[in-house]
Amino acid sequence: MKIAILPGDGIGTEIVEQAVRVLGALDLRFESETALVGGAAYEAHGHPLPDSTLKLAKEADAILFGAVGDWKYDKLERQYRPEQAILGLRKHLGLFANFRPALCYEQLTHASSLKPELVTGLDILIIRELTGDIYFGQPRGRRTAVDGHFPGAEEAFDTMRYSRPEIERIAHVAFQAARKRNKKVTSVDKANVLETFQFWKDVVTEVHAQYPDVELQHMYVDNAAMQLVKAPKAFDVVVTGNMFGDILSDEAAMLTGSIGMLPSASLDKNNKGLYEPSHGSAPDIAGKGVANPLATILSAAMMLRYSLQQPAAADRIEAAVKAVLSAGLRTPDIWSEGTTKVGTREMGDAVVAAITGKTITKTT
Ligand code: NAD
Repeated sequence: MKIAILPGDGIGTEIVEQAVRVLGALDLRFESETALVGGAAYEAHGHPLPDSTLKLAKEADAILFGAVGDWKYDKLERQYRPEQAILGLRKHLGLFANFRPALCYEQLTHASSLKPELVTGLDILIIRELTGDIYFGQPRGRRTAVDGHFPGAEEAFDTMRYSRPEIERIAHVAFQAARKRNKKVTSVDKANVLETFQFWKDVVTEVHAQYPDVELQHMYVDNAAMQLVKAPKAFDVVVTGNMFGDILSDEAAMLTGSIGMLPSASLDKNNKGLYEPSHGSAPDIAGKGVANPLATILSAAMMLRYSLQQPAAADRIEAAVKAVLSAGLRTPDIWSEGTTKVGTREMGDAVVAAITGKTITKTT
């Protein structure tokens, strides 16, 4: 097994360091190599995704990614901005299926913006198509309008499109994921208004014929946004396109209280994947040693489960995270009265200790 480690910028380096320590505590045999990505790579090589980093990512069996970005790069030409590195990796590696679990730990229900009874036991999986839709559809651009409400005015336009194979493969991913969970898929669309999403709905329905053991429900995106805050536990697996998934996965993330707890995986057709926390590089707290490393540690667990076929090791990490939460340890983003505030490294220490069977020490 070879893992490419791409810490990136801001808190990326701090949180990935802890995830690597946790992986090291598992007594697994794997090779790893670290490379620059994002703003750090731009500073050193003049590009956020240098050829050497892309080559390493292609060779590896899985990629553990921190986060990229800093406000100081906002004025750079788009192609040199740190965030382009993620888009480049998704494109070059064919990472079309994004998995974002939203799991509410019972120890953290108070951190949710919803009432505890709505989120206690919440465990949903949002599967977002990642390489198509209006984000990539051509043509796009700016021009002078020849028709519409204001002919002759300057306008901008994008193209929403999905091909049959793109919808089929993400639908298969969703039904197969549901088989390992509670066997229910909600396909989110806007078929009442958009041709693209009527097609999406038709193709998902066809693919469903191969999964009679899985329940399929269709839901319009506006209703899905509402149901996610009204009765989120009614969902199991949610599958949707790139743009709707972008928005709904952040909404689902907030149900769990802190973005610092949420892992993610982006997979190709062979289950090779890029694993990263759902949050960004948090420049506001970078270098302070207070970032929550648990989303990255849980991303490493997803990597073991989905790409490296080590489900028992993934279970050990997830159990260790629950143990440190039960022991009352909290980074500032999830801290509440009566719990013990710890920094990034101490949180990493505690997860390592839980994995190796040592006593979890509380620091005050
Ligand atoms: P962000 O997710 O970095 O931060 C949002 C807020 O959440 C901040 O207050 C931050 O301190 C907090 N936060 C985030 N992660 C945390 C953690 N692990 N522990 C504790 N608190 C945490 O989003 P932003 O501020 O909008 O963006 C900052 C930079 O990150 C931008 O340059 C943006 O483009 C980039 N970004 C990168 C990715 C990625 O690498 N995949 C994703 C989103 C944003």
